[in-house]
Parts: sequence; structure tokens; C-alpha cells
Amino acid sequence: MIIVMQSGAPETEIDRLDAELQSWGLKPEKIVGRYKVVIGLVGETADLDPLQLQEMSPWIEQVLRVEAPFKRASRQFRHGEASEVRVTTPDGEVIFGEHQPIITIAGPCSVENEDMIVETAKRVKAAGAKFLRGGAYKPRTSPYAFQGHGESALDLLAKAREASGLGIITEVMDAADLERIAAVADVVQVGARNMQNFALLKKVGAQDKPVLLKRGMSATIEEWLMAAEYVLAAGNPNVILCERGIRTFDSRYTRNTLDLSAIPVLRSLTHLPITVDPSHGTGWSSYVPAMAKAAIAAGTDALMIEVHPNPQKALSDGPQSLTPDAFDNLMQELAVVGNAIGRWQNAPVFA
Ligand code: PEP
Ligand code: MN
Repeated sequence: MIIVMQSGAPETEIDRLDAELQSWGLKPEKIVGRYKVVIGLVGETADLDPLQLQEMSPWIEQVLRVEAPFKRASRQFRHGEASEVRVTTPDGEVIFGEHQPIITIAGPCSVENEDMIVETAKRVKAAGAKFLRGGAYKPRTSPYAFQGHGESALDLLAKAREASGLGIITEVMDAADLERIAAVADVVQVGARNMQNFALLKKVGAQDKPVLLKRGMSATIEEWLMAAEYVLAAGNPNVILCERGIRTFDSRYTRNTLDLSAIPVLRSLTHLPITVDPSHGTGWSSYVPAMAKAAIAAGTDALMIEVHPNPQKALSDGPQSLTPDAFDNLMQELAVVGNAIGRWQNAPVFA
């Protein structure tokens, strides 16, 4: 953090600030220029608010934050190294990370019944997926839309897990359901609409299952990383970020704008693994393959793709869901891109 004093700021005022900042445990370092004095603050500045600091003296011209406000999520926190999130699934350990093969998560938007979830699990596994996704508790814009089958859907996910050997990723909307969800899920998802539900973030941070944190639909990258910071600060180091598209101005042809530029940006800012969800990102199954391939080329560590055995009959998000056959084809295409960058091992190589 840097405090720039106005030119002509009295020395007594600068000394007063110096003493006050020292009393907070900081080390102010004064740089005297020709016209202005600048105070560099060394120490724990992550929780200081620049606007509040500005109020300390009418002689302060501006306060600049040099380091990011997210500390544990920052790349520097791990000395520039990427972190890995290791997940134990029935089939063994799956690792999310920059130096690992790309992980694919696939499955329906919602868990609808036993047959569809078990069938989908088997099909996506045969195509190379490592995780089954599927919502038991669904965040829907309309209260009249299908809300998910809740607890009974968790039982069906447990059955699909056993039948397929896949890990399970499912969303928690209400902290009251967390324990029940974490008993079945290998990774707990926090959805876009809850990215800034700070009470929920603290709760998922205080339990042991890894957390997939989706980007809020209007969240900046900094807000997203601050949300991850909540989980990390609460004690859970296993956070995976998921870009799922943000709101821009076109909603006619795409549901969201998939921000693939977030991938290299996150890579430079954070050590956390990155997932891309081209299904919610575009809203249309026909656009999913192009964006999935682009996400791999841009450096994602994982993909989350909606797959439904009969998208026309899906209770939620049918238009953006691939059929199992389409998913199988896509995985073969993804293998080509993944192999080209040396990050593919979970699907048959396209001959
Ligand atoms: C989902 O993954 O089904 C979902 C609701 O996603 P998002 O929170 O990104 O809208
Ligand atoms: Mn969905």
C-alpha cells in the first residue's frame, strides 16, 4: 500500500501519520521526492481499506493498493507455484492442477430419476469423464420451475457413484443441507448465484470436502478471488474456480458470455485450479464443443459439461445439454487438443 501526500503537506502531519501507522504494527517507509512525500506501507495491509486510510488526513492525495487484497488465493502465497486439489473418488485419486491432465466433469443439470442419472454416469465415464455432476438442490430463477428432488436426489447420486466409480459434484444452496450433501459429494459446488453468500462460503470453508466455486454472473475476477479467500480463510485449502460465463449485453444468441480470458488472468493471479463450464457459458449445446476446445487451448485445468440422455425432455437446461453420443464425440475431439498440449489422459485418443 502506498500513501501519496499532497505537495506542501506539513512535516508534522507526515510524522503524525507515521506514528499512527506504526501504532497499527505497520512499518511506514518515507520517500521524499522533490515535490511530494510518498509513504510505503510494509506489513499486513490486506485488510486495510484504502478509502478509510484516505480519511486519516486531509493532506493525503491518494492511497494506492500495490498488492492484491486476496492473500491466501494469490499466486505469491504459494511462491508462484500452482496448487493441486486432490479428490478421492471410488475409482481412485483425481488431481486438479496446472501440471495435471485435464479433468472432465459431466452430467445433467438436475438429477431427475435413478435410470437417467445412472445411465448418464455410465455413459460419461465410458467417454472419459472423472466426475458426475447433477443438482439435487437447484437455484432457479422462477419459484415455479423444477427445484430439484433434494435429499432423495442425493441418494440417487450415491447410487450413480457406486454404479460408475465416478466422483460426485453437486451444489449446496443452503448451509442447512451442507452436511447431508458433503456425505455424498466428493466436491461441493457453490453456484454462481451464491458466490457472494458469505455465510455459506464460511460454512463450506469449515468442512473438509473440496469446493468448486463458480463465478458469479456479474462478478469481477477480484470479487471471485475474494469469495475463494473466504473459503480458504475458513480453513479449507481445496478450492477449484469455475468460469461459467458472465452477463454482458447479448442474451438473445448466447445465455452468457464465456470469459475465456479469465483463464490466463487467473493463472497469473492465483495458484488455484481452474475449470470452465461452456454449457452455462453459452446456453446452447451446439456452441459447447467450440468453447470446450478453446478452453483447453487457453489452459483450463478442467471442464464441466452438461449431458442428458434426452435433452428435449430435461427438467432444466435441456437446450445446453449434450446427448451422451455427442459428449462421446466431443471427448474424442478434446483428446486431440489435450494431446497437442500434453495434458490428456482420460479419454481414448482420436485416431
Ligand atoms: C449448475 O451448475 O447447474 C448451475 C446452476 O450453474 P451456475 O451456478 O453456474 O448457474
Ligand atoms: Mn444447469
